[in-house]
Parts: sequence; C-alpha cells; structure tokens
Amino acid sequence: MSTPRTAVVTGAARGIGAEVARRLAADGMDVAVVDLDEAACQSTVDDITHAGGRALAVGCDVGDEAAVTAAVERIAAELGPPTVLVNNAGIIRDNLLFKMTADDWDAVMTVHLRGAFLMSRACQAHMVEATYGRIVNLSSTSALGNRGQANYAAAKAGMQGLTKTLAFELGRYNVTANAIAPGFIETDMTAATAERVGMSFADFVEANAKAIPVARTGKPADIAHAASFFCSEGAGFVSGQVLYVAGGPRG
Ligand code: NAP
Repeated sequence: MSTPRTAVVTGAARGIGAEVARRLAADGMDVAVVDLDEAACQSTVDDITHAGGRALAVGCDVGDEAAVTAAVERIAAELGPPTVLVNNAGIIRDNLLFKMTADDWDAVMTVHLRGAFLMSRACQAHMVEATYGRIVNLSSTSALGNRGQANYAAAKAGMQGLTKTLAFELGRYNVTANAIAPGFIETDMTAATAERVGMSFADFVEANAKAIPVARTGKPADIAHAASFFCSEGAGFVSGQVLYVAGGPRG
C-alpha cells in the first residue's frame, strides 16, 4: 500500500470482524477494533500488534449516536482519519413471526441498520476530506429470506439498499461501498443457531455443508479475503456490488 490508511472494523472482538481486522492490518492498515466491550477487543488488538501492526481497542455501541460520534473522533485523533470502514457488528434475535417480539425486531434493526448508518455517516466526513474511502457492509444470504429471521432478513436486505445508495452518493469523492453476503460461516453466531435448533455445532456444520456446492461451511477467513479485496486501493472501480460468499451461487 502506498498510503497509510486507518480502517474501522465494528464487531471486531470476535468472529468475522476479528478476522477482517487482522487481515486489514496484514494488508498494511492501522485498525480500530470496535466492539461493545472495549476490554473484549484487546485480544484482536494483541494479535495485530504481535504481528507488527498498529491497532486501537474502542468500546462503542454502534446503535448509539453519541457513542459513535465520540468513537470516530477518538479514532481520528489516536490512529488517523478513518478512510476504510467495515460495518460488521451484528446480532440475531431469531423467532418465527408469531413469536417475534417488537423488541427482537428493534434490537436487530438498531445494530445492523442504524449502526451501519451512524458509522458510515461519521466516517464519510473523513473519507470525503481525504477524497478516498472504502466502505464494506456485512449483509447475508438471509437477505433472500430465511425462516425464523424476519427481522434479520429485513435488516440484511436493508444493508444492500444502504450499500447501493452510499455508492451513488459517495462515488464522486472516490469512496466505494460494497456488501458481502456470507452464507454459513463458523462463528459464535452460527453456534448459537445450532443451540436454538437443538443440534451440536459439529452436527449442524455437517448438515449445512451438505447443501453447499463446495461441500464445506465457511470460515471467517473466507469473508476477510473478500473484505480485503473491496478495501484495497485497486478496487476503486468496484462499487455498489453485493458479493455472495457462500460456497456456491446465491442472489
Ligand atoms: P459474532 O461472532 O456474534 O460477532 C458479532 C460481534 O458484534 C460481537 O463481538 C458482538 O459483541 C458485536 N456487536 C453486537 N452488537 C454490537 C453493537 N451494538 N455495537 C458494537 N458491536 C456489537 O458474529 P459473526 O458471525 O462474526 O457475524 C459478523 C457479521 O457477519 C454480522 O453482521 C452477521 O450478521 C454477519 N453474518 C454472519 C454469518 C455467519 O454465518 N456467521 C452469515 C452471514 C452474515 P458482543 O460479543 O458483545 O455481543
């Protein structure tokens, strides 16, 4: 990389976000590791610093407007103006529609959609100033509809609409926005789903792999690889795209 870049990765204490943070650091970026609990970010920060990179742990609820403003100001001051953003923070509150509460609905919308909106709005000021930016939003194959996930599917479809709109609005400032829609990735999130359906994680992984063309489930590194591409300087003519990373054709 020719220019030092500061990247913000939300939900980066564990799972996909942690792997994306480590990968962007390996690509040469300074990385703000953002998650709800600042102490929980430390292991990702340690991985990056032990590998010779630079990282900062930042505690922030992405759904909280004041917290997002303060976090992005702190990142700009301590690490450098953020010109790369990966909106990865996410939660699930699965239930069939007739059992889903309004709180389940609101919680999912707040973290995914409000969170991505607030972080994108706060970071775009730095990107426009730098006339450079890369935004990556985590969608999901669930955007195509998934039983028990009315809230999550709607949020993940919303992430795609947000992505395309950011691409239209920010393109003139050399800022791209793209979405990654993962299929089944082995993390705590899919482990929680296994528990909900009453299966061991190993059995759940095996059952899901049977329906995937490449005959395996995904790992966080599969998503980090796609994020690395979208966040690279060379991907400046790729914007508003949704990439399904699911071991086979989707979408
Ligand atoms: P994960 O292991 O559950 O990690 C999600 C992280 O987001 C956690 O560290 C969590 O913190 C954090 N987070 C939750 N709410 C937050 C908030 N309000 N502010 C800041 N951070 C918050 O999930 P994952 O599997 O890595 O998923 C990462 C992203 O990929 C999510 O957007 C998810 O929807 C998407 N995705 C995952 C899969 C999959 O198969 N795993 C498939 C498609 C899409 P706490 O630990 O404190 O809750």
